[in-house]
Amino acid sequence: MKAVVFEKFGEAPTIQTVPDPKPAADGVVIKVEATGLCRSDWHGWMGHDDGITLPHVPGHELAGIVVAAGKQVTRWKAGERVTVPFAVGCGRCFECNSGNHQVCEHQTQPGFTGWGSFAEYVAIEHADTNLVRLPDEMEFATAASLGCRFVTSFRAIVDQGRVTPGEWVAVHGCGGVGLSAIMIASAMGANVIAIDLTDEKLDFAKKIGAVATINASKTPNVVKAVKQITNGGAHMSMDALGHPTTSFNSIANLRRRGRHVQVGLMLGEHARPQVPMDKVIAFELEILGSHGMQAYRYQAMMDMIRNGKLKPELLVGKRISLDEAPAALMAMGGFEGIGIGVVTKF
Ligand SMILES: [Zn+2]
Ligand SMILES: [Zn+2]
Repeated sequence: MKAVVFEKFGEAPTIQTVPDPKPAADGVVIKVEATGLCRSDWHGWMGHDDGITLPHVPGHELAGIVVAAGKQVTRWKAGERVTVPFAVGCGRCFECNSGNHQVCEHQTQPGFTGWGSFAEYVAIEHADTNLVRLPDEMEFATAASLGCRFVTSFRAIVDQGRVTPGEWVAVHGCGGVGLSAIMIASAMGANVIAIDLTDEKLDFAKKIGAVATINASKTPNVVKAVKQITNGGAHMSMDALGHPTTSFNSIANLRRRGRHVQVGLMLGEHARPQVPMDKVIAFELEILGSHGMQAYRYQAMMDMIRNGKLKPELLVGKRISLDEAPAALMAMGGFEGIGIGVVTKF
């Protein structure tokens, strides 16, 4: 099969012909029909993720068709249209048994712990626990765009952030995660403030539900601005970018008893950011992480999509071919364009 391969961290990936994957006894092989481009792939390529063994094929936001299933697989067969969460649970450990596959102790991640979906085919383990059937009307590109950023935002807003109607929600950073969070929080009935450095992204944020925007490049004190708009601070706030400044602001702009959810990855030199711990105590703030979403929780999100309350297709950005993926991957370190780039031609 054709795949995007890198042999060394930080060195240009190339298109290579590599052996086709085979399904594990409890796994499947999926013919990739669409795969999203994500900043995590860039982090992996840069060597920020110590789970990667070289040579490596990146890609973790995938949708496609099952082409082969192992002997132990009971729920899936060739021909079914599927997607999968980026954190693949083992289905057997304490966390999986308690319903928290997203933090499985033995999780695998396509494109990190093994070869991913920047290829014609990808192997996924523990298929019965992790595969998600796609609604017939959902395009593969839309399904791939759910894979990491949209589902992570769904869990961050709904399950971790526990957003309720009428609350103020601040979203710091309007990339794929941030825009997804804005759409989801608005659908939940919250008043959402979008914060970013570019007016272009903020204008788009308004179109998908933000009621107020703050351009951080023109606002000397973002925390003060959020507190003014919300009359005291956000109930829930999210760092969707993953930067010491946005993380700090997201905690500092909360009102008493507010919830901060960290979704943007903090890796390398940013792994241990400053936290206003004085505020965390005095205001009884909650600091939460959010890491993907369990396959069984997709149903609630899919129902909201089917009924038009969520429109992830609006967040699909550029569509490119696998041949264009190496250059696009290397460019992910810079600022992204609007929406989620997806490889749709293999
Ligand atoms: Zn597990
Ligand atoms: Zn991702």
